[in-house]
Amino acid sequence: MSTLSAMSVHEYPMLIGGLEHRSESPIIVRTPFDGQPFATVYAAQERHLALAVEAAEKTAPVMREMTRAQRAAILLRAHALLEKRKDLFARTIAGESGKPLREARTEVERALNTLFFSAEEAHRLAGEEVPMDAAPAGAGRMAMFIREPLGVIAAITPFNFPLNLSMHKISPALAAGNTVVHKPASATPVTALLLARLFLDAGLPAGALNVVTGPGGAIGDYLVEHPGVRMVTFTGSAEVGLRIRSRAGMKRVTLELGNNSAVIVCADANLDDAVALCVPGAYANSGQVCISVQRIFAEEPVHEEFVERFSEKASQLPIGHPLDENAAVTSLITEAEAQRVVSWIGEAIEQGARLVCGGGRQRATVQPAVLTDVPPRARLFAQEAFGPVAGINRFASLDEAIAAVNDSPYGLQASIFTRDIEKAFRAARRVHVGGFLINDVPQLRVDQMPYGGVKLSGTGREGPRFAIEEMTEIKLISWRVSV
Ligand code: NAP
Repeated sequence: MSTLSAMSVHEYPMLIGGLEHRSESPIIVRTPFDGQPFATVYAAQERHLALAVEAAEKTAPVMREMTRAQRAAILLRAHALLEKRKDLFARTIAGESGKPLREARTEVERALNTLFFSAEEAHRLAGEEVPMDAAPAGAGRMAMFIREPLGVIAAITPFNFPLNLSMHKISPALAAGNTVVHKPASATPVTALLLARLFLDAGLPAGALNVVTGPGGAIGDYLVEHPGVRMVTFTGSAEVGLRIRSRAGMKRVTLELGNNSAVIVCADANLDDAVALCVPGAYANSGQVCISVQRIFAEEPVHEEFVERFSEKASQLPIGHPLDENAAVTSLITEAEAQRVVSWIGEAIEQGARLVCGGGRQRATVQPAVLTDVPPRARLFAQEAFGPVAGINRFASLDEAIAAVNDSPYGLQASIFTRDIEKAFRAARRVHVGGFLINDVPQLRVDQMPYGGVKLSGTGREGPRFAIEEMTEIKLISWRVSV
């Protein structure tokens, strides 16, 4: 343990109760594109986890008693600091997650939005009047419900948007008067540590945001089962999400999990738009986006043209180092993940799919791949690919396309391209997902919208207003009135 000092470029201790903590187990974080060491962090031991929850419990009354204005002011000061530190955050995201720098910059802009919307929600946070005398037993009574913070929230986040997905948990939690223990992905802990430091600099009480780093299994189980933790908010794989849910007992649990996002392209669609949006929708962050375009269903008359135009554009995407300003496609998070994606492509081909372009691999980088005629049961369609690959199948009728989209264990977002409003709304009503987009890609997320899935894609919604609903509990206050 040491007091907070200027952190060196390469070594990032945990931040617990406003103090730096190291353990005897350093971990080297590497840039996935070339395996170069990026930073050193420390694996938390049980004593660090206990300290982190204790610090968050001690600070919970401080956050709870703050006025809405005070909480909003801290978030707005954090916003101003993030604005000043944009470049540091973008380079850190690119360095540790391997995301192209230009996408890392976009992520920082989005995190600024998330923070700003959370500050606005801190101001707006309110319950409402309950119309008691609508029932005979309520006559002569007035009531309201208020929203109170839960207390300590454990936030567990993935590697693919290390800043904005952390922000989607931390800033609404603080806006609502909670405290947080944050466990970032092992691949991307530095962004989280820089973010916690930024909040401290913005005047957040020490102990309101604590970051513990290290392997997810032991840390996750500890936080999920700790009686002092009132809620677990998790973004990551369905496998881990299900484990968390099964161990969380009576705690609140929000799960933002995966998807194998589908797009329907009708024959009457504006194909220029569909191609222009679907290509980045499939290959941004090398397809490591939970709503990445993975399954495309193009209507028979335009299938061939769509495949041709899509694959031409996909094969022109520049591949390079994450810090190369021109790179659009970089590496996956590990070489093992790249091998898995390539093996799924091979399996789909063995089962009858046709490879149109891409699919080659160098270390952790996979060339953007396009396939057609993918069998629905091939893992490339049936599961979440989480890599730079899209399959483009054909359909004859809209009902057939809707059934194909729904033939998935997941249900996060889906979309349709069509000029026919009847078709658009027929699909919007019948596709079973948390969000449906018309003339857009399912990969669209605007940070204030309600966002979350059905089926294996999770439970609960994010977006600051909706996350705050999950992160507060309702208390009814009723009083008898004599007049
Ligand atoms: P992951 O392997 O599930 O890891 C997510 C987080 O959980 C990491 O911090 C991980 O720590 C931690 N963890 C691992 N085992 C745990 C356990 N037993 N208990 C508690 N936490 C545990 O996911 P990922 O590979 O980082 O991210 C990819 C997945 O996230 C994809 O499925 C993607 O679709 C999903 N995702 C969903 C959304 C959404 O909003 N719906 C957004 C982005 C990503 P370690 O890193 O130390 O293992």
